[in-house]
Amino acid sequence: MIHAHHALVLFSGGQDSATCLAWALSRYARVETVAFTYGQRHAVELEQRPVLFEAVRRQFPQWGERLHDDHVIDLSYLSAIGETAMTADVEIAMGENGLPNTFVPGRNLAFLTASAALAYRRGLGVLVGGMCQTDYSGYPDCRQTTMDAQVAALQLGLDQPMRIETPLMHLSKAESWTLADQLGGEKLVALIEEETHTCYRGDRSQRHPWGYGCGECPACELRAAGHQAWLASR
Ligand code: ZN
Repeated sequence: MIHAHHALVLFSGGQDSATCLAWALSRYARVETVAFTYGQRHAVELEQRPVLFEAVRRQFPQWGERLHDDHVIDLSYLSAIGETAMTADVEIAMGENGLPNTFVPGRNLAFLTASAALAYRRGLGVLVGGMCQTDYSGYPDCRQTTMDAQVAALQLGLDQPMRIETPLMHLSKAESWTLADQLGGEKLVALIEEETHTCYRGDRSQRHPWGYGCGECPACELRAAGHQAWLASR
């Protein structure tokens, strides 16, 4: 039995997925979470997950009641298939195809397929992910058209109703901060600033106004610019 109001959030511990978690907790009666290990360099973000769960339960008790099981799935075959700057110790750069070499081919497709299988077993009818096609790195598996095609494939292949919700899809990074503010006010914004992790290099030694990170990798640059634009827009 699949419940249309029970959700599985793809929750890596980053800014986007933390905002998605808050979005889901404000909407669905039951929320479970999933993360994937695939040899990512910034595995430090996974260490922030229990910190964030604990903080949500303590600071947002009405959300805490809806927050249930957490799952971690090993997809290390993704790093075995090919070297990318996300999974191997190579410099982050733009490729000839116009994509940064942090692009892990098939990653989101794999994440959503594994998530859908887990959701099927757990009776969860909604997948929630932080995919965003606005000012993101141009990953083709973050686009709305990819999501539309994949949800159709999942519904057919599972023979079950399954939805994919991507609340950040058409938001800029600045608007993602606005959404967090709308969902949980200053408390949630402060929690996301302090405890979520975005930096591709896994650096949590330097604290900036927008959080921890090296301040130089593409993920840090996006997060910093978005935070600055959000502050300027308030
Ligand atoms: Zn960084």
